[in-house]
Amino acid sequence: MTTECDRIGGINLAQGVCDTPVPGIVQEAAIKAIHEGHNIYTRCDGIARLRQAIAEKQLRDYGLRYDPECEVMVASGATGGLHATVMALLNPGDEVILFEPFYGYHAVTLQSMRVKPVLVALAEPDWSLDTEALKAAVTPQTRAILLNTPANPSGKVFTLAETEAVAQLCIEHDLFLITDEIYEYFIYDGARHVAPATLPGMRERTIVLSGFSKTYSVTGWRLGYATADARWMPAMSHFHDLTYVCAPAPFQHGAAAGLEYLPPSFYTQLAADHQSKRERLLRALEAAGMESSVPSGAYYVLAQATRLPGKTGAEKARNLLATTGVAAVAGSAFFRAGRGEDLLRFCFAKKDGELDEACDRLRRL
Ligand code: PLP
Repeated sequence: MTTECDRIGGINLAQGVCDTPVPGIVQEAAIKAIHEGHNIYTRCDGIARLRQAIAEKQLRDYGLRYDPECEVMVASGATGGLHATVMALLNPGDEVILFEPFYGYHAVTLQSMRVKPVLVALAEPDWSLDTEALKAAVTPQTRAILLNTPANPSGKVFTLAETEAVAQLCIEHDLFLITDEIYEYFIYDGARHVAPATLPGMRERTIVLSGFSKTYSVTGWRLGYATADARWMPAMSHFHDLTYVCAPAPFQHGAAAGLEYLPPSFYTQLAADHQSKRERLLRALEAAGMESSVPSGAYYVLAQATRLPGKTGAEKARNLLATTGVAAVAGSAFFRAGRGEDLLRFCFAKKDGELDEACDRLRRL
């Protein structure tokens, strides 16, 4: 959709590219790092300054204590972190439970390493978790649960009770919990991000993945991280090294400066700004006759596109692009075959001017 959208000069609400401004302090520190010669390989798990800053962030935000020397890995995006985790900790034939709707990279990364994603459907309209369905999905081959909260594409923020149910199952069946918390600061209406590793007995079995792509609007920098118990980290770092060698050196300095110097108000403002963008998009979608469940987190809206012409989600997305010049993603990208065809995903992490123009076009639909 991004390629087609670029071709016709449309407004891209499809891919979560996040083209909002990069905080000045983060930009300047990366540019300074280039000028100062930080352009060579770093330690495979990242520069000491950034590992230290990540460890301090996890302690400050969640009370989670990680040793920056052996429990923090700077990765080439959360994506690189997940790839290294799967390579290090899982084997072909293992099963990993994923919640549906799911983020495509999660399912396909597992499949690319011959690990089987087992889908547990969340229930519409608020994507609540059916704990009985979750329990029923566990088999002797299950090795991990992959939990994305706040979630792409549903915007679901797993509640404390739901997270506890997931944690309890991990402990009962001795499973890893791989979390993708990349939208941890994109949280609305007073919802709270529960970091699953904080629950009793979970720190030792949770691989926390997150990153800077979304928080600092640097999706192209390819910079994320994993925090996990020292038992798992050497293998994860080894496999990250084999694929990426290290994360981009100067950008590591940029992210470290962000973690060190941006005040707490930066993160609350980020959430407030995106909540306002969410409101505008929801109103425009409603005016266009596309009802949506209200996301409590992340920066996507999964909208009902029943009224749009087209038999499949892909046809509906192409029709919408042709008639309005607004690109969205077919809902089917986030579900097992045959599901999600009536849904479209819209991203609202856009500069205000572009988002407002897209909303005007949707309203005229
Ligand atoms: N995880 C989720 C749930 C995402 O939605 C995305 C991007 O859309 C990523 C990870 C990518 O993160 P990164 O850029 O750090 O690889």
